[in-house]
Amino acid sequence: MTPAAASAAVRAGFRRVHGSDPEGVWAAPGRVNLIGEHTDYNDGFALPMALPQAAVLAARRREDGLLRLHSAQGDGRTTELRVAGLAPGGTPGWTRYPAGVVWALRERGLPVGGADLHLDSSVPTGAGLSSSAALECAVAVAYNDVYGLGLSRPELARVAQYAENAYAGVPCGVMDQMASVCCTGGHALHLDSRSLEVRQVPLDLTGHGLRLLVLDTRVKHDLADGAYAALRAGCERAAGLLGLPALRDLAGAELPATLVRLPADLVPLVRHVVTENARVERAVERLAAGEPEALGPLLTEGHASLRDDYRVSCPETDLAVEAAVAAGALGARMTGGGFGGSVIALVPAGDAASVARAVTDAFAAAGFAAPAVLEAVPSPGARRIG
Ligand code: ADP
Ligand code: MG
Repeated sequence: MTPAAASAAVRAGFRRVHGSDPEGVWAAPGRVNLIGEHTDYNDGFALPMALPQAAVLAARRREDGLLRLHSAQGDGRTTELRVAGLAPGGTPGWTRYPAGVVWALRERGLPVGGADLHLDSSVPTGAGLSSSAALECAVAVAYNDVYGLGLSRPELARVAQYAENAYAGVPCGVMDQMASVCCTGGHALHLDSRSLEVRQVPLDLTGHGLRLLVLDTRVKHDLADGAYAALRAGCERAAGLLGLPALRDLAGAELPATLVRLPADLVPLVRHVVTENARVERAVERLAAGEPEALGPLLTEGHASLRDDYRVSCPETDLAVEAAVAAGALGARMTGGGFGGSVIALVPAGDAASVARAVTDAFAAAGFAAPAVLEAVPSPGARRIG
């Protein structure tokens, strides 16, 4: 769907639900991360790109302090909340993400009030493609405009992350939100999660005869279930033992001498984070050299590190990677936090259909539900579309 068509559809939805015209329509995309997984909360590096799939949000400011929320993917009901009464833990279900953004803006001392919001998102939920960040960032950019806040893109990402951490109770890093607000079409985003500096890295897959498949295993992850928090705590403990602000500050060359000083349970965590940061740098170098096909082996190497060291893979993501590579993918890895979700596979354009079929057949043979197949095309970040 074109942005104009998406905007018109969501405007019409807004009119049906809220009985008036919205002030505007905003879109914020989901993302895949090419490489650099579980590095953001270690102040490290990542290389995400925005998807064409996006959360589209129509909004109209209200002066009576009410926040009225409706999602085309929800249960048909409109949730009405009093902005002055928003408190972490006090908002049910999906509405905690948009309510959390409004709360986070007010926590920063910004004079924001209510709004009517209508959401229609094409980002699959719980698939590791960041539907939650897309939703948060759509609300953040819409509020930035209708309340004239003048926040920068990294500031909007921080607000959205704070909403997810402190309001929705999910201890995610900042990569998903930075990707959703800062990506540009035709580029991957080289992100420094400490400084929030970004660099747009040209990513011309088509021009090199390549496609990037997204294989959604349909295994739902739940980042709030404690495993993610435990990994994050392990990394922080390791950095503390090493006297470092974060694992980002450990250079690859120091790794062998450092690992022998750590308790055995922390060794694989540290090894993943340090080697993964190095893989991001290598990936950026290859892209700068005009060799996107060289990402392939880095993806597969990164997956092995997530599977064997970080242990966030699962049988479905492992099988998708294995089957894709066996069928001719140049490389593949799980993307997102893990414990399910999606796998990306870099494939020669002519092999895309056969790789997708091979993964689907392997899933059927293993008795897994059929994966959903999408294509990742580097797309624009959050913006007003109507
Ligand atoms: P991911 O971000 O990988 O898709 P999360 O578990 O972080 O997975 O976020 C998914 C949650 O985000 C959903 O369970 C729901 O609460 C919320 N969400 C995302 N998109 C929508 C939508 N279109 N309508 C309502 N809720 C949504
Ligand atoms: Mg999420």
